[in-house]
Amino acid sequence: MASSAASPAFCGIPKASTAAARASLTAPTTRFLSKTPLRRLGFAAAAADPLLSHHVATKLVSFKNASAKPVRGVASMAKKSVGDLSGADLKGKKVFVRADLNVPLDDSQNITDDTRIRAAVPTIKHLISNGAKVILSSHLGRPKGVTPKYSLAPLVPRLSELLGIQVVKADDCIGPEVEKLVASLPEGGVLLLENVRFYKEEEKNEPEFAKKLASLADLFVNDAFGTAHRAHASTEGVTKFLKPSVAGFLLQKELDYLVGAVSSPKRPFAAIVGGSKVSSKIGVIESLLEKCDILLLGGGMIFTFYKAQGLSVGSSLVEEDKLDLATSLLEKAKAKGVSLLLPTDVVIADKFAPDAESKVVPASAIPDGWMGLDIGPDSVKTFSDALETTKTVIWNGPMGVFEFDKFAVGTEAIANKLAELSGKGVTTIIGGGDSVAAVEKVGVANVMSHISTGGGASLELLEGKELPGVLALDEATPVAV
Ligand code: AMP
Repeated sequence: MASSAASPAFCGIPKASTAAARASLTAPTTRFLSKTPLRRLGFAAAAADPLLSHHVATKLVSFKNASAKPVRGVASMAKKSVGDLSGADLKGKKVFVRADLNVPLDDSQNITDDTRIRAAVPTIKHLISNGAKVILSSHLGRPKGVTPKYSLAPLVPRLSELLGIQVVKADDCIGPEVEKLVASLPEGGVLLLENVRFYKEEEKNEPEFAKKLASLADLFVNDAFGTAHRAHASTEGVTKFLKPSVAGFLLQKELDYLVGAVSSPKRPFAAIVGGSKVSSKIGVIESLLEKCDILLLGGGMIFTFYKAQGLSVGSSLVEEDKLDLATSLLEKAKAKGVSLLLPTDVVIADKFAPDAESKVVPASAIPDGWMGLDIGPDSVKTFSDALETTKTVIWNGPMGVFEFDKFAVGTEAIANKLAELSGKGVTTIIGGGDSVAAVEKVGVANVMSHISTGGGASLELLEGKELPGVLALDEATPVAV
């Protein structure tokens, strides 16, 4: 059998190439604010309101095709929503809103992608139109202490423009000056606090710091899905001091799709999992095996599965210590009656480079010295045929090294297939990470039912984990079925 030790280059593509891809993968889309996804999901209660004004529990019990399989983590993730609060609950109230305004800035502090700001607008608009006083908090980048280049000041003009009011900016996020600004905030006004991560206490979730943040407000809205998998002072800590603590519209929609639609899917339900390594997707695969009918695997991880089955994989990416795991996942799929498909052919390259020589070979015929960097045309056809029958599809991880055009064909074909299925009423969920970058690259992001805005957070939700920033919120009022 050919040596299959992974080349170090396989740990990722060269930095220059990843920069653009990373930038776009962290860029969420606001197209989810369109009205169509709700119809696709069959949410009986929410069709009229694109901002999802009904809480998660309402929708979960509204699924027509509820799964007979056990539902993990859904009940406890059904949270009270900002849409559940009445005008009387909000008028004149100081509301601490944690948003994810972590937008990319260029060297001149210009915003290069405002998607995250736009994504935060519906919740803020809802609050100010109900007469609340919004105290808006976010992090930006990974500052070590007070770092001017990570100030939220450059966001003020765009935020003001989108909200249609002049947003006031504080130079700190706690302290007497901030308190003065809060005291002078009119109903319907917005005060943007300075980067909450200028304090190390934020990520340490120090109660005293959380208490100071919370003391500025009467109630809490968490709309920062991208940081919901971390218990930080402004996401989890403040909930100990503010009641009610509720989910914003963006956070709620992520839960609706990544928990609700995945746990109670319209069937057949297919999961497509790709990406570089099986080790980073074990949790996702295991969790989805509990729920899906069809599992399609692509990306670098397939070579570990091939090798576990005794095939030669040339110099493709292989995790030697995960061969047993691959075998056990295949057995588990069989035992659960899940139709697990591995690509039947692959595009191989003579080196890990955009201009590598390439050819298509059967998965069982990878020559020594060649590495698989994409799924082949037969596999695209087989995968597309399998997807044709589905009603719900979730996708996490590219089919190949899509950052190199030559090896992006498989990933782009799957993106286009999902776009086509979306048009036929299939619920299509892009579960964060590089698959988001891929559908953006192909230009079909706007037709998908849901594009997740959080890489790490969406992965953890798909693994069936509960997110601390969500768990800490008030439970939704149970709805009689
Ligand atoms: P992940 O973050 O685990 O979803 O992995 C995404 C990365 O997997 C992308 O940067 C792809 O270039 C990479 N990838 C996909 N297919 C392959 C492959 N066949 N060999 C090496 N890397 C791959």
